[in-house]
Amino acid sequence: MTSPTDPDCLFCKIAAGDIPATIVHESETTVAFRDLNPQAPTHVLVIPRSHYPNAATLAQGEPATAAHLFDAAREIAALEGIDGPDGGYRMVFNTGAAAHQTVFHAHLHVLGGRLMTWPPG
Ligand code: 5GP
Ligand code: ZN
Repeated sequence: MTSPTDPDCLFCKIAAGDIPATIVHESETTVAFRDLNPQAPTHVLVIPRSHYPNAATLAQGEPATAAHLFDAAREIAALEGIDGPDGGYRMVFNTGAAAHQTVFHAHLHVLGGRLMTWPPG
């Protein structure tokens, strides 16, 4: 089976290396890069190489890859030093326009390096 891609998708282009990004982690199925408009000292986006419009459709289509996003986040948190006993990080999937999803290629936000508030705005 070939992996889905969308030639018009920004994050497919980043995954393919056609648009530059500051890559911090890669695996066979995932790519992670720094958010262009960071909301915390660490703000990394972890994406599947395959194109799925959101986390829910990714979990249906490639459940193993969905799990790989979390494993990548764990490695990134360690690399960034935000996983210690006094640290902690937030993982977010905005899903749908009303939840502030603006790029319709599944992506996991990994945010850390500052105190987080709850509930989010
Ligand atoms: P969303 O709002 O869809 O959950 O998150 C999309 C994220 O992608 C935003 O935080 C936005 O700053 C980031 N973003 C949008 N365009 C680019 C880009 O071209 N490069 C990078 N590195 N991040 C981007
Ligand atoms: Zn895509």
